[in-house]
Amino acid sequence: MQHGEEGAAMAKDVKIKLIELAAGAGLYLGAIIAAGYWSVAGSWKLVLFLPAYIVLSEGIVWTIYKNFRKRHFFDENLLMILATAGAMFVGRHKEAVAALLFYQVGNLVEAVSLNHTKKSIAEFMDIRPDYANLKTGSGEKTISPGELRRGQIIVIKPGEKVPVDAVVTKGASMIDAKALTGESQPNEVKIGSKLFSGSMNLSGMLEARVYKAYEESTAARIMKLVEEANDKKAESENFAGRFTKYYTPAVTLLGILVMILPPMMFPGYDAGTWMYRGLIFLVAACPCGLLVSVPLAFLGGIGAASRQGVLIKGSNFLEALSDTETFVFDKTGTLTEGVFTVREISPKGMSEEELLELTAYGEAYSTHPIAVSLREAYGKSVDTERVSYTKEHSGFGVEAEIDGKRVLIGNSKYMSSQGMFYQPVSKIGTAVHVAVDGEYAGYILISDMIRKGMRKTLRWMEKHQIETVMLTGDNDRVAEDVAKKLGIDSVFANLMPEDKVEQLEDFMESQLESEKLAFVGDGINDAPVLARADIGIAMGGLGADAALQAADIILMEDEPERIINAIRISKGTVNAVKQNMIFAIGMKVILLMLALFGYVSMQDAIIADMAVMLINILNSFWVLKFPE
Ligand code: ADP
Ligand code: MG
Repeated sequence: MQHGEEGAAMAKDVKIKLIELAAGAGLYLGAIIAAGYWSVAGSWKLVLFLPAYIVLSEGIVWTIYKNFRKRHFFDENLLMILATAGAMFVGRHKEAVAALLFYQVGNLVEAVSLNHTKKSIAEFMDIRPDYANLKTGSGEKTISPGELRRGQIIVIKPGEKVPVDAVVTKGASMIDAKALTGESQPNEVKIGSKLFSGSMNLSGMLEARVYKAYEESTAARIMKLVEEANDKKAESENFAGRFTKYYTPAVTLLGILVMILPPMMFPGYDAGTWMYRGLIFLVAACPCGLLVSVPLAFLGGIGAASRQGVLIKGSNFLEALSDTETFVFDKTGTLTEGVFTVREISPKGMSEEELLELTAYGEAYSTHPIAVSLREAYGKSVDTERVSYTKEHSGFGVEAEIDGKRVLIGNSKYMSSQGMFYQPVSKIGTAVHVAVDGEYAGYILISDMIRKGMRKTLRWMEKHQIETVMLTGDNDRVAEDVAKKLGIDSVFANLMPEDKVEQLEDFMESQLESEKLAFVGDGINDAPVLARADIGIAMGGLGADAALQAADIILMEDEPERIINAIRISKGTVNAVKQNMIFAIGMKVILLMLALFGYVSMQDAIIADMAVMLINILNSFWVLKFPE
C-alpha cells in the first residue's frame, strides 16, 4: 500500500543484487588470475571458480526453490542453473561463471527498469496526504489523516495537500488537482466548494469541514485502484507466461537431445563437444528478454495514461481498448454537459413561480443532472422541512410529498405509467411534467448543451472507422437532435436503465470475440452498463462514486478528448509488445540454430540475450514517454 515503503523495499532488492554481483565479479576475476598464475588444471580449477559460482547462483537457486514450492517447475532460472552446472561439470568453469554473471546483470537491469516505471507512476500519483491540521478549541493539532472524523474542521495552509474530502467553511484559494486529474489549470474554491483529498492548496488559508473519512476519500480510493491495476494481466502477458510454461520444458528436452543424439547416431562425433553444445543451447534458450518487456510496456502505457488524467484499472483494459470497434455513449451528462437551462415553464392551475418551486422541492434530494439544474433555476434555498418524503424512479423521475401533497415529477413515460393525463410537448427539449395529488400541473421544458470536446472526439472516431451509438432515457426528439449535431451512427431513445443493459448485451452478442465494445457514461443511472461493457469508461471520476467503482477506465476530468489519447496510448503499447515479442522470438530461433552448429560460446549466447532484452526495454520505455 505505502508507495514510499514499496519503493524503498525495491531499492534494497537492487542494492543486494548489486553487492552480490560485485562480489561474484571480484571472485571471478580472482579465479581467472589465480588459474593463470598457478596454471592449475582439472579439479583444482573447479575449486578456484566454485566460490564465484556459488555467490552468483545462490539467488537463482533460492528462486527455483520458491517456485518449486508453488508447483511451478520449469522456468528460465532452472534452465540457467542446469546449463551452467553442466558446464562446470564438464570443465568449462570460466564460461559457466561468465554466463551466470551476465545473466545476473540482466536480472539487475530488469529490476531497475521495472522499478523505474513503477516509481514514475507512483510519483505521478503523489497524492497521499501525510498529515492533517485538526482545528481544536485552543488552536490546531497535527494528526494523521486516518484519525479524522466526519464533521470535524480542518485547516489547510498554502502548499499543503488536502488530507480528506471536505467542504470549505472559511477562506478562498486556488487548488491544484493535477496529480488527481491531469488538469494543469488550478481552480478557484470558496465557501461551500468541495475539496478532494490529494489535491494541493496553492494560495489561501482554508478551513473546511470533513465529509468523508480518509479511507473513503478520493486519494485513498484512487491509490487502491492503481494498486489493484497491477494484478489484472493483459492477454499478451498471459500469453508470454503460457508460452514460457511450455517452451521451457520443451527446450530443456531439446538441449538434452542435442547432448546425446548426435554422438549416439554418429560414432565419429565427440561426446564432449556435443555435451557442451547442448549446454550452450540451454543458455541460448533463456526467454528472459521476452519476459520483462511485456509487463514493462503495459506498465508504461498505464503510466502514460495516468499522467494525462486517465486512470486505467488494469493492463487487460488497456489492451482491449486497442481493439475497440464500437463506442456506446450515454447521453445526459456524457455527450451533453448535463447542465440544463429552462426553456419554457407551462403551468396549469398555478403560477410559473409555483411550478418551478414545486419541482425544486421535489428534486431536493436527487443527484440527477436534471434535478441539480432545476434547483439551480429556482435559485432560492429549499426548506427541506416541507418535504416529508421523496423517492427517485430512475429513468422516470421522482415522487415526493411536499406540504402533505403527493407530487410526481418526471417524463411522459412516468406520467402514463401512473395513469396521469399530461400535455404532449412537440418542441425539442426534455419536458419535465408535474402532477399534484392526481391533478396535472403543467411542465417545464429544459434543454442541455453538447459537451465541449465531444464533437472533436466523435469526428476522430468516425475517421478511424469506429462505430458510435447513443443510448438514452430521454425522448427521441432530443436524442435525434443531439445525434445529428454530433454525427452519431445509431440512436436508441426512451430506454430505462435496465433496457440500456439489454441493448448493450445485444451489441456484444453480435460482435466477434476479438472485437471489443466500450461504453462511456457518467455513472448516473448507467453504472450497471458501465460494469457490463467490455470496457466501461466513466467521465469525471472525481464526483461520481458509483462511476469510480463500476468503470474500468476513468477520465478524471470531463474532457472527452482524453479518450482519443487513451486509444492512441493503447495502440502504442500493444504495438511495442508485438514488436518485442517478434524480435525476441526471432532472435531466439537464430541463436538456437547457431548454438546447435557450434558458432556461439556460452558467453556469446547470454550476451546476445541481454542485448535483445535491452533493446526491448528501451522500446517499452518509449511507451511510458508517450507524447502528450
Ligand atoms: P440518460 O440516458 O440520457 O442519461 P437517464 O436515464 O438518466 O437519462 O434519465 C432518462 C429520463 O428520465 C430523463 O430524460 C428524464 O426525462 C427522466 N428522469 C430521470 N431522473 C429524473 C429526475 N430526477 N427528475 C426528472 N426527470 C428524471
Ligand atoms: Mg445518464
